[in-house]
Amino acid sequence: MKYCSTRGKAPALGFEEAMLVGLARDGGLYLPEAVPRFSAEEIADLHGLSYEEAAFRIMLPFVGDDIGSRDFFEIVTSAYAGFGHKARAPLKQLDSGIFLMELFHGPTLAFKDFAMQLIGRLFEYSLGRSGRRICIAGATSGDTGSAAIEAFRGLENVDVFILFPNGRISEVQRRQMTTAIEGNVHALALDGTFDDCQARLKDMFNDLSFRDSVGLAGVNSINWARLLAQVVYYFTSAASLGAPHRKVSFTVPTGNFGDVFAGFIARRMGLDIDRLVVAANQNDILHRCIRTGEYRPEDVKPSMSPSMDIQVSSNFERALYYAYGRDGNCVAQLMDELRLGGFTVSQGALHALREEFDSGRCGEDETIRVIRETHEKTGELLCPHTAVGVKVAFENQREDVPMISLATAHPAKFPGAVQDATNVCPPLPAHMRDLGEREERVTVVGNNLDQIKSLIMERTGN
Ligand SMILES: *Cc1c(COP(=O)(O)O)cnc(C)c1O
Repeated sequence: MKYCSTRGKAPALGFEEAMLVGLARDGGLYLPEAVPRFSAEEIADLHGLSYEEAAFRIMLPFVGDDIGSRDFFEIVTSAYAGFGHKARAPLKQLDSGIFLMELFHGPTLAFKDFAMQLIGRLFEYSLGRSGRRICIAGATSGDTGSAAIEAFRGLENVDVFILFPNGRISEVQRRQMTTAIEGNVHALALDGTFDDCQARLKDMFNDLSFRDSVGLAGVNSINWARLLAQVVYYFTSAASLGAPHRKVSFTVPTGNFGDVFAGFIARRMGLDIDRLVVAANQNDILHRCIRTGEYRPEDVKPSMSPSMDIQVSSNFERALYYAYGRDGNCVAQLMDELRLGGFTVSQGALHALREEFDSGRCGEDETIRVIRETHEKTGELLCPHTAVGVKVAFENQREDVPMISLATAHPAKFPGAVQDATNVCPPLPAHMRDLGEREERVTVVGNNLDQIKSLIMERTGN
């Protein structure tokens, strides 16, 4: 299986290399040259399999010959062994025809664990074979950083540096990053915003001599291997509601378009998905773009669902690539226009996007209202991201087609909003009860590229 760039200029790579580099050299994102199709029979055969077995079957064709199938099976099995629910991604019925898919039973309580636990092991496997050493650098508004640290802590050939905006994330999120005791973990609190963190990270990746000298690698959601891991739960949930004999729809709270794009891949693989609905918070650039064709970033307005506070939605580039008939030149041109302030999607491409995606938005007051009403009616506590999805899911429900809304984080990760709405403080799961007492280890850095670079050089012995 070969992967090509959305901008058409970088060389095609195999699965392993595409995973290790993350971003293509032409600035584009990797996608499979051809998406493998599953027959109705193969989808029917998923019934009754464990999550791990289903995951193995669904992902194997994308991995190709890069990893032996027995090794791959072991990697997949161990990736999900630490999850707190046997089903890994259990469904819970919320209302007539509406289901929640709980994706927060992993070690850091957000859906990011599905991908990160897998790619931590895949990196370890590949680096172990080649003897290479790498330096993972990431910027986070909270959940990606903790999931990455959890996945890479203690690995021999990896250092992991995570930049987060000092004082602007929840205490649970911060403590998940600062309390890892392993020496290869480096939590950096940057004096600035999340956008500053991302900008310094991009600067580091664009400094090619620095990038090569420390072996910089990225694990943010543009990494194809992360998306692939997320394709699995679309299949397992649909199969448990009757696929391939019955259609399902999904609503996906999203900012970077990663999770919902995984659903798009599942559909291309042959899963009969009726509607694929994008749910945005008040930072609703994706919803506006799908409605009007105009993609123009505004200032980010901080919300109670911070993991979706995004205006430059990296994975949307992948959807545009398909909407433009896989024309890398068109995509490269749109991305040039984006640097100058935004772009307008052509009529043909907009039509193609709307064939695949519906969209909706949920503002701050509505988020609180949904958390409160859901708690009153069902006893369920929703995290604010999940609440955004649930509101949009009800709006887009159609008769006879079950709607699955993705529950992307555990409510205890965002206790402030949940308590405001319900007066209930959601308890942390048992394995994290002592999080508040663990010792923190963190380095405060300025919003200064040279300072961050020399710190990384020093810590990695370069
Ligand atoms: C990351 C995250 C999202 C958004 O995911 P995308 O990659 O933008 O699709 C939603 N909810 C939570 C809790 C997250 O951590």
